[in-house]
Amino acid sequence: MQKQSEAVFCTLRRCKKPLRSVFALLSGFIKMHEMGIAMQVAEIATASIPEDMQDARVERVNIKVGKLAAVVPESLRFCFEVVIKDTRLDGAELRIEEIPVVARCRECDTEWTVTGPVFRCEKCDSGSIEVLSGQELDIESIEITED
Ligand SMILES: [Zn+2]
Repeated sequence: MQKQSEAVFCTLRRCKKPLRSVFALLSGFIKMHEMGIAMQVAEIATASIPEDMQDARVERVNIKVGKLAAVVPESLRFCFEVVIKDTRLDGAELRIEEIPVVARCRECDTEWTVTGPVFRCEKCDSGSIEVLSGQELDIESIEITED
């Protein structure tokens, strides 16, 4: 039995290409994860251009990405470039600030930077920990120049 392909189209205003073909182009060397994030970042950045600056050029989009978001900065930058092509954001640079994972132990209050896959307090070995940072996926700011 043949599977029917989903009719999903690129949501970018001028694009409207079936997403499938866009992803097919990239499959093999880019993960969907970064592509989805790149699309979201582009969408939010576009929406945050002030009404009275619609002719301005977006120079840079600054984002904060926690290490727990498991984003490969290079892939994300590449995806972003693909996503913004021929849109209002075309040519904008994506600047990624990586935020380390900081955890706090609920038992002994120790705070430390998590660098490995082990989520246990390094002091008392408790598994009851709270993640203080590292889950961010925030758009800090967009930099705009008016010609
Ligand atoms: Zn502890």
